Amino acid sequence: MVQPLRFKTASCQVMSIEHLSRILVQWELEPTSQDLHSIVFVVDRGESPTNLSQISGDISPFGLMEFMDLTPRMIDLHKVYYYRVRAVERKEGLILQEFSTPVFTWETDLDLVGLYVVEEHLFAYRYVMGVPTVIFKKRKDAGYCPNCFDPVLKRVTKSNCTICFGTGKQLGFYPFIEGWMEFNPDPKAAQIVEWGERQASQTDIQFTNYPLLGLGDVIVEIQPNNYWKVVGPIRTAEKRRSITLQVARLDAVNRSDVEYKLTVPDDVRRRLAKELEDIKREREF
Ligand SMILES: [Zn+2]
Repeated sequence: MVQPLRFKTASCQVMSIEHLSRILVQWELEPTSQDLHSIVFVVDRGESPTNLSQISGDISPFGLMEFMDLTPRMIDLHKVYYYRVRAVERKEGLILQEFSTPVFTWETDLDLVGLYVVEEHLFAYRYVMGVPTVIFKKRKDAGYCPNCFDPVLKRVTKSNCTICFGTGKQLGFYPFIEGWMEFNPDPKAAQIVEWGERQASQTDIQFTNYPLLGLGDVIVEIQPNNYWKVVGPIRTAEKRRSITLQVARLDAVNRSDVEYKLTVPDDVRRRLAKELEDIKREREF
């Protein structure tokens, strides 16, 4: 019997990105064997839990199950928004089924200290000591790679598989997210002294809270063009349960490794490289 589709979790968190308060809404479905191709998610929002309206377009169930609400006006710090995620199954224009999460909002009061810490660091990474990167989050919830994963042996059987990039999971990684981070932060300041010496092929980074890094994620440093893999440890700093900063240890990805084949489009590379150049010029004054 096919398990009915159900939401497992749904939550939202106030974040500060590019100096603006934004709300990251995230959700998960219970594991299912049902085909998700006819399903989309939409996000509803309202200032009253009984009066919500749709604020997102259709969101694919095959991407990250999240939606960044860019439009909240958080200048009034006591403001609260309520969210709900709906799953809609459509076929040929008809709605076959629809189900939703309960209405939810952020769990803690808007934490001004936490937001302040994030904003200060975002500013610092972008304008003072950071460099542009793109982050490929590794897929965890995905079917096995049809090309290289042996379901009997339960392992990857080919190297250099560009279907899954060595993860054994379909597609391997989510579409990349841009971010600015500091490479090789002062070990004392970043409290990574006890991690011990880095190997020659390793580096550490310090970063704000979006996206949250996980083991196996790939980070591309745009200039120079270095590929890195998060191997841990990963340390996070929190203010009242909201993550504000992340520090992580990375291993170099070699040119011969399959992760090196994750592509960053040239226009994105050029734009980020130019931003860095412009900022460097300003930093010199
Ligand atoms: Zn594969």
